Amino acid sequence: MTTPGKIMLVGIGPGHVEHMTQRAREAIAEADTIIGYVTYIRLVADLIEGKEVVKKSMTEELDRAIEALARAREGKKVALISSGDAGVYGMAGPTYEVLFEAGWTPGFDIEVEIVPGASALNTCAALVGAPLTHDFCAISLSDLLTPWPVIARRLDAVAASDFVVALYNPKSGRRTQQIVEARRLFLRYRRPDTPVAIVKSAYRPKQRIEMTTLEAMCEADIGMLSTVLIGNSATFIRDGLMVTPRGYANKYDVTNGDTRDGEQAGRSLSTGLAGWRDTIRASGHSAAQIAAQYQLPVDYIEAVLAQTEAEAV
Ligand code: SAH
Repeated sequence: MTTPGKIMLVGIGPGHVEHMTQRAREAIAEADTIIGYVTYIRLVADLIEGKEVVKKSMTEELDRAIEALARAREGKKVALISSGDAGVYGMAGPTYEVLFEAGWTPGFDIEVEIVPGASALNTCAALVGAPLTHDFCAISLSDLLTPWPVIARRLDAVAASDFVVALYNPKSGRRTQQIVEARRLFLRYRRPDTPVAIVKSAYRPKQRIEMTTLEAMCEADIGMLSTVLIGNSATFIRDGLMVTPRGYANKYDVTNGDTRDGEQAGRSLSTGLAGWRDTIRASGHSAAQIAAQYQLPVDYIEAVLAQTEAEAV
């Protein structure tokens, strides 16, 4: 009997060896077979001498996962190389789907290890300042596998709820209108001068950073290797840096660190859950009025108003 093989899903970060983790390098060194795009394989050339290398230029991720499973069944240790993190729009999902389809269960024969890497949103954010210091989300504009109305609904929801957004797969040679539609949906809720950063080929030789606005973003140079970061209503650009405030100014005087009146260090804001509940209770307004004021569902407001003190703790 051959010893069971192993599949390692290795995220190598943005595309420069310095931003690869120690474990990613070890996993690649450990592997018998390396599967991935030529560009990424070139980056780790020093680690792969004497190994079997399956260079894939194809877009079909399923084929790569099937190939990995076939080799692992022969008892090989296979490293599937992904840019960024393999779990973020990467190989991790398709690989588990292929494995489950083949009847695999965790802890059975083939071992699976996911080696985390810095995703494009981390690396692009690091290059432009601190855009993700408050709530954010990622949306891929690729409609190759996701219907457009699903993508549009998510764009609409996050635009309305003031998330900072990282747009992956914003544009390609063939897909040029999705970013135009994204802008249209965002402008329904956000100011035209909302800061936008476009980072192309982060930490690669052709790296390019452009600061622009929601209004003008479609005129920028955006491609397959770009990530588009759209700020929230508080994000600003200063001296070429894009910053989303964490909210310290709500509680402290940022010039001297003093706590503002009515606020306590280490405690929820006066407008946090408990304080807000007291405020809406004392307002005497109906649940419907409060719901309209805060743009929250009426049944949620009713539930909050109905909470007893014991439940509220
Ligand atoms: N697994 C990857 C994402 C793959 S989807 C990760 O975690 O980063 C491919 C998209 O990722 C690209 O269209 C682009 O939006 C983004 N991307 C990947 N590498 C990038 C880089 N070096 N610079 C800017 N964006 C990048």
